[in-house]
Amino acid sequence: MIKDPDIVWNNCLSIIKKDVNPQSYKTWFEPIKAVKFKENILTIQVPNKFFYEWLEEHYVKELKKAITAEIGSNARLEYQILVDNHRKIGRNAATADQSPSPGAFESNRIKNPFVIPGIKKLNIDPQLNVDYTFDTFIEGECNKLARSAGKAIAAKPGGTAFNPLFIYGDVGLGKTHLAQAIGSSVITQFKDKQVLYVTSERFTNQVIQAIKNNGVNDFMNFYHMIDVLIVDDIQFLANRPKTQEIFFNIFNQLHQSGKQLILTSDRPPKDLKDVDDRLISRFKWGLSADLTTPDYDTRLAIFDRKMVFEGVELPNDVIEYVCYHIRNNVRELEGVLVSLVAQSTLNKREIDINLAKEVIAQFISQVSKEITVDNIKQLVADYFNLPVEKLHSKTRKRAIVLARQLSMYLAKNFTNSSLKAIGSEFGNRDHSTVIYSVKAVQDMMDTDLVFKDTVADLEKQVQLNLVS
Ligand code: ADP
Ligand code: MG
Repeated sequence: MIKDPDIVWNNCLSIIKKDVNPQSYKTWFEPIKAVKFKENILTIQVPNKFFYEWLEEHYVKELKKAITAEIGSNARLEYQILVDNHRKIGRNAATADQSPSPGAFESNRIKNPFVIPGIKKLNIDPQLNVDYTFDTFIEGECNKLARSAGKAIAAKPGGTAFNPLFIYGDVGLGKTHLAQAIGSSVITQFKDKQVLYVTSERFTNQVIQAIKNNGVNDFMNFYHMIDVLIVDDIQFLANRPKTQEIFFNIFNQLHQSGKQLILTSDRPPKDLKDVDDRLISRFKWGLSADLTTPDYDTRLAIFDRKMVFEGVELPNDVIEYVCYHIRNNVRELEGVLVSLVAQSTLNKREIDINLAKEVIAQFISQVSKEITVDNIKQLVADYFNLPVEKLHSKTRKRAIVLARQLSMYLAKNFTNSSLKAIGSEFGNRDHSTVIYSVKAVQDMMDTDLVFKDTVADLEKQVQLNLVS
């Protein structure tokens, strides 16, 4: 029996509706249209790739439950993307009827080139995203050093002191974009230079394949031919000694022949865990540059750029509202824009401050719900099994002093409260006490690894609180 996709999807929706809050439902499920239902496969159309990724990241469970209930245990969901901005170099812009299934994004990229034996002349897709260029990368205090080092490298790959260039920073701050921008810029300036971008996960998989096929030498020889090698999210090499060993060999070979290496990571080399010291020391040879969170003006500039890219114009109050509230992550900033546009086109709503509030509430509840000094005090008190009031007391008992200093440290890092306001919440202490406490915690983290773990643990708990 052939069922109408709309009917199938509507039934799924009524299940999903019970599982997610109304706000999320509106933001992430209402804009979806069902386009096809054949055999056990339901194809739904989402406004863009970001939407798809968001659904896959946050609502897999709900989606799975709904389609299984509606279609059966062999049910499958496929996505169709309405507008795909993520074209690849050397390919046509994606057309409207692309229908990648989850995971299919990966499939037709590099066929590991080294499987072609005896390959001499290189003709490798550099695996770059055409949208990630210097032109589209907004400069700000947050990326000044990394960006200018990147520019210098692009002008003279392998010929600067920045080899490797090690770009690090939190998720969504532009590491991949910047690393790829350098690659794209090299390609446009030097036709004969072979650039290759690879994530460290993919690199790891290639190594595993190479080992399985007895092709480790071919594999390494292949990589030795690259002029500019970009390895993204190198922290994922942790705990993979064999992959690290092979990468070590490739690194040395390339470095010695004056080839350029660009690496990214979520932390500086010294903080990489379970990575061979020999590698870490090499990562420090060139320049390590971090990307930090953009300030308000930079966020405005980035948002502006994205609007041009999406071909939309929003009222100023909406722009300011969004840039004020989304602080920590450029990807979220884009996400808000994209879902605003999706909401307005698909649901025919005007983009005004109310819609912005709705959409942002969704993002903020997921990523950066405000946390208060009180929340932090409670968390720390629970952690150390103390009554909260103890944090205000005048006692000099070491355990309590420590808990108080830690609370101040977390309050400074996770809330927008001023030092003065924080001090006043701890038995009316002044701002210099807060400064002192923050410094004391930092110093102790440098010398006491157990303490450092405690802090990391607490930070994780605060973050969990932020997303709950
Ligand atoms: P990371 O690799 O650090 O997680 P990405 O490079 O994937 O972050 O960046 C996330 C998104 O934010 C990308 O779409 C990127 O284009 C955008 N972005 C980040 N920084 C900037 C910037 N300075 N200017 C313009 N877009 C940016
Ligand atoms: Mg990245």
